[in-house]
Amino acid sequence: TNTLHIVGGGMAGSEAAWQAAEAGIPVVIHEMRPKVGTFAHQTGNLAEMVCSNSFRSDDDEQNAVGLLHWEMRAAGGLIMAMADAHSLPAGGALAVDREAFAEAVTARLRAHPNVRVEAGEITALPAEGHWIIATGPLTSGALAEAIRAETGSESLAFFDAIAPIVYTESIDMSVAWAQSRYDKGETEEERTAYLNCPMTRDQYEAFIDAILAADKTEFKPGETAGYFDGCLPIEVMAERGRETLRFGPMKPVGLTNAHQPDVKPYAVVQLRRDNKLGTLYNIVGFQTKMKYGAQTEVFRLIPGLENAQFARLGGIHRNTFLNSPTLLDDQMRLRSRPHIRFAGQITGVEGYVESAAMGLLAGRLAAGDILGRPITPPPPETAMGALVTHITGGAEAKTFQPMNVNFGLFPAIDAKGGRRGRKDRYKAYTDRAKAAFSEWLGQAARDAA
Ligand code: FAD
Repeated sequence: TNTLHIVGGGMAGSEAAWQAAEAGIPVVIHEMRPKVGTFAHQTGNLAEMVCSNSFRSDDDEQNAVGLLHWEMRAAGGLIMAMADAHSLPAGGALAVDREAFAEAVTARLRAHPNVRVEAGEITALPAEGHWIIATGPLTSGALAEAIRAETGSESLAFFDAIAPIVYTESIDMSVAWAQSRYDKGETEEERTAYLNCPMTRDQYEAFIDAILAADKTEFKPGETAGYFDGCLPIEVMAERGRETLRFGPMKPVGLTNAHQPDVKPYAVVQLRRDNKLGTLYNIVGFQTKMKYGAQTEVFRLIPGLENAQFARLGGIHRNTFLNSPTLLDDQMRLRSRPHIRFAGQITGVEGYVESAAMGLLAGRLAAGDILGRPITPPPPETAMGALVTHITGGAEAKTFQPMNVNFGLFPAIDAKGGRRGRKDRYKAYTDRAKAAFSEWLGQAARDAA
């Protein structure tokens, strides 16, 4: 039949359902709450915000998440419409009244003639039909097991371990140098996949003190099961002994400081290329639960990163997510079972807005398939396109971790030389994105006519 089944009525599932229903497709949302709960959700409402009530910056000229808001509004997104209808004053951010918001999303979907909501947990991968799985960071155990059986255990994670990600252009290359440990790697690209920041003994000691003194976030009750077999936060390593990091991720061996070949560094912080564009580097082994403010202060103590700008800060959370670069095609379909799409945080994006955006896209792509008018995703110059391009192929698969939208995911705008100020550059990114997104929407509307 031409019914679209959506598993999970969270941020992504709700938006996917709305987009497909608006395109004329009958939709069934399978939502396990309130029958089966999670440690974070409190209600049976669709699109429940489990933690903060903020959609982050609403600045669509200078901020990538604000740009994503703009694109979702332009595409008639339900999540943005209800967030706007129930917004709270919050300066430049879009904060919402979480209860009124979730109730409004639920009511609008239940009232839609093409939408039916079915309460109940889905525990197996469907054998046929049109499906979107949008079960989020807290996907139920049975379904996670079924996904794992299909994809292999290497390809489904239960915790993220996010090391901070730095914009390449903000790294001081008069201090840092490119070199892989023991010069490993066949190609020039492999040998320059790593950047290195050297520390003297005094700098190292001060760095350890700063880590130990920093404010940290605690895990929530019920969140930690199965966590410690993964990777330790750097602060836990530092607590185990002042030398632990120097014999772990910060070991200075196999590296020669290109700027001072005669001086042996006491410790070295390594950064690894994080995307094919080369615009982002992550700090290797630096997953952490230090609070965001503390992270910026501590990481700017690293020589070469004094002026670092962070595309995202580190974190460790309970988070079920796929290795999307290997598992999903550019239409967000599971390569091994193309009748199933994935959307939302389980695809390796992070946050309410990014998850809803991936739901919006999956809903439109699925509707296009069902109507026999397949559509291509928006181009990578748009925020939505940059995100989907990143998770389905732009990111390094081996070290894939969840990603927020940021300008480092966009094709660089000053590639042919000519540096301008940051404000001008971000404005140029958002102008270019809006034009490309409008063009994409226009094409979709012409195809539908
Ligand atoms: P969800 O919104 O979680 O929706 C998934 C839905 O699927 C849920 O309703 C769930 O009940 C349902 N479901 C799961 N398994 C099944 C099944 N087998 N059958 C049927 N239904 C199922 N993001 C932010 O932007 N800001 C924050 O402050 C923030 N804090 C967070 C705190 C915690 C503790 C967690 C876990 C996440 C947090 N996030 C935060 C991330 C945020 O929750 C997600 O980005 C967003 O909700 C993801 O949208 P989604 O639709 O992919 O998943």
